[in-house]
Amino acid sequence: MDVPEPGVADSLRCTRRRVLGASASIAALAAMGLGGNAHAQSKRERGGAGTLPALPEFRRLVAANRILANEGVVDAFGHISVRDPRNPKQFVLARSRSPALVELGDLMEFDAEGAPLDARGRTPYGERMIHAAVYEARPDVMSVVHHHAYAVLPFAITNTPLKPVIHTASLIGAEIPVWDSRTRFGATDMLVRTLDQGRDLAKTLGPHTCALMRGHGAVVVAGSIQAAVMTAVYMLVNANVEREALALGKPEGLSAAEIEKSAATQLSPLALDRAWEYFCQRAGVEAV
Ligand SMILES: [Zn+2]
Repeated sequence: MDVPEPGVADSLRCTRRRVLGASASIAALAAMGLGGNAHAQSKRERGGAGTLPALPEFRRLVAANRILANEGVVDAFGHISVRDPRNPKQFVLARSRSPALVELGDLMEFDAEGAPLDARGRTPYGERMIHAAVYEARPDVMSVVHHHAYAVLPFAITNTPLKPVIHTASLIGAEIPVWDSRTRFGATDMLVRTLDQGRDLAKTLGPHTCALMRGHGAVVVAGSIQAAVMTAVYMLVNANVEREALALGKPEGLSAAEIEKSAATQLSPLALDRAWEYFCQRAGVEAV
């Protein structure tokens, strides 16, 4: 879930004051022709009411929100972020809004500790610390998905492991650890609200592609938005196939060598582009 934590409104007001001050300076620079950054973008290039330029990466992030919603990976809750291509210490994530409705103007920039840089009254996701902590721990990660897909949840609350049983899901990796917030944080509201909690989750994720969260959901990471989306979608497909197989007997999973070879195939530009075009078409968005 993505309920803002208590007190966030105060911190947002403070951030807004700082940003308003910064905006005034930027406006002065722009007037002098020195504002050669995102704020100097033409109105046509900007995302409606947003301050972010309509870079392909940001338009792709909007498409990814729509795809994840269309494929049932996220519903009212869940989110996807991208490491900021302009500054790798920052990341970009929508405001607290259902992914199916996210537009360019909803995208917000966050610093390495998950603080919004230009909130302008927008409420961030309560669980943005998942993203901050993963980007901090994993320099190789360019995109992070957090979801509560119902199909994967049984594997987060039983001792039956989620593992690749079909080649299209090889990207989820041979090992999917399960994070239990109770181990370090006791009884919470189950949300990842602090950087400390996010770092603990990132530690459990380790070098893997996916982690499950007991009684909650999952985190999926990848080197691009397209790969993160494809991994999250096929994680859901794999969970459904594995559950159906479990009803019939003991599923025969892919071997470690098969997972490695198949993942390389799935990550090829040919496969990624083909999947991205398909999922964009299904979601009714432009394939950026
Ligand atoms: Zn959540």
